Amino acid sequence: MSETLIVVGNGMAATRFVDELTQRAPSRYSVVVIGDEPRLSYNRVLLSSLLADEIDESAIELKGQDWWSARGATTLTGQAVTSIDREGGRLTLANGARLSYSKLVLATGSAPIRLPKPGMNLPGVLTFRDLADVEAMRAMMAPGARAAVIGGGLLGIEAAYGLAKAGVKVTLIHLMDQLMERQLDARAGALLKRAIEAKGVDVVLGADAAAVVGEERARAVALSDGRLIDADFVVCAVGIRPRAQLAKDAGLAVNRGIVVDDGLASSDPDIFALGECAEHRGNVYGLVEPAYEQAKILAHRLAGDLAASYLGSTLATNLKVSGVNVFSAGQFIENESNDCLMLEDEGAGIYKKLVLREGRLAGAVLFGDAADGLWYLDLIRSGADVSHMRDLLAFGPALALAQAA
Ligand SMILES: Cc1cc2nc3c(=O)[nH]c(=O)nc-3n(C[C@H](O)[C@H](O)[C@H](O)COP(=O)(O)OP(=O)(O)OC[C@H]3O[C@@H](n4cnc5c(N)ncnc54)[C@H](O)[C@@H]3O)c2cc1C
Repeated sequence: MSETLIVVGNGMAATRFVDELTQRAPSRYSVVVIGDEPRLSYNRVLLSSLLADEIDESAIELKGQDWWSARGATTLTGQAVTSIDREGGRLTLANGARLSYSKLVLATGSAPIRLPKPGMNLPGVLTFRDLADVEAMRAMMAPGARAAVIGGGLLGIEAAYGLAKAGVKVTLIHLMDQLMERQLDARAGALLKRAIEAKGVDVVLGADAAAVVGEERARAVALSDGRLIDADFVVCAVGIRPRAQLAKDAGLAVNRGIVVDDGLASSDPDIFALGECAEHRGNVYGLVEPAYEQAKILAHRLAGDLAASYLGSTLATNLKVSGVNVFSAGQFIENESNDCLMLEDEGAGIYKKLVLREGRLAGAVLFGDAADGLWYLDLIRSGADVSHMRDLLAFGPALALAQAA
């Protein structure tokens, strides 16, 4: 009889993992995937495009029920796993049901953080993580309504853009003096601010949201300098936290995320973790590509290839705001030991910065024209020597490769 492998969480990592595993070991496991959202997994990355009305809901589906059935995987939706009994090899669902496993994969993703400030739990304060959040925003986004979005990272900017596109008067409040400061340098950040303002969003930088004000529901955001930003609703997009409590309660090693080794095993050799809930070599990733890389390695492992190892991921960021092309990857902050190439065409709104270390590309920031982003990402990942095409590197592969030839 095949072993029972249970996956907790039916999100992007879980779906890719089941895909990879069932290709490699189609009948080795009896696979059960348990998700607490009311529907099968969907492409969470596309929620921003859905909010901005650039796609419809059918476009976010990852795999339909037929696909799961054809793979022999049983799916349970709308069911939360509430505890794991490691000694007995069983887990319990919120409805009291118990299921036995021989291997367990935790793919529980992250939860959005609400600032620990007064009023953040008032009705009308929303987050941006799942389809229910998009539906809640849609219910409030009438033209002329006012929204305050707290957080000028990727999610906050995408939320602000989607709302503004629907005619909502949006104020984007960001603590730092630059948007997306973790992904962009100051110049690209300034260009981004201008582009987002041109989309109708009022951007307030260096602004510390001290409280959400309102009696029965949110009415404004109070900044610590005394300013009040009136809002009919507030979107809090200040970051995410790995959903690791289930693992912690079961006694697994948890720091920020569930600690895993290069084989994606937790501190219990029969329990694995991947995606945003996992912490590998001190890193917790908040993007889908690392989750997909981990899914592949874990599938190899559980299909019997014990040499497969996950060594970490190089991150790349793409902003999904129509007409605003932004890409960043690797180590893009220059210092004395780096060689920094910069190209700016102010008229065309194009800015590129490439950081080289010892003749190899270490990082890239692109604004305005991000078409060559994946080429730069490949160069960063491969660690290839690019010194022979240095002079034309910023002009993209067509010119740089011709120079190198
Ligand atoms: C609006 C938005 C835009 C994004 N844009 C990008 C982008 O442009 N590029 C990019 O790389 N990434 C982007 N991301 C991040 C990307 O979506 C995540 O990195 C990816 O979804 C992580 O996959 P995961 O499977 O680890 O987590 P998730 O997709 O969140 O899946 C985890 C699932 O597990 C469920 N779950 C948790 N606990 C339990 C439990 N106890 N029992 C049952 N089920 C449980 C959760 O409800 C969820 O359905 C975006 C995210 C959002 C919200």
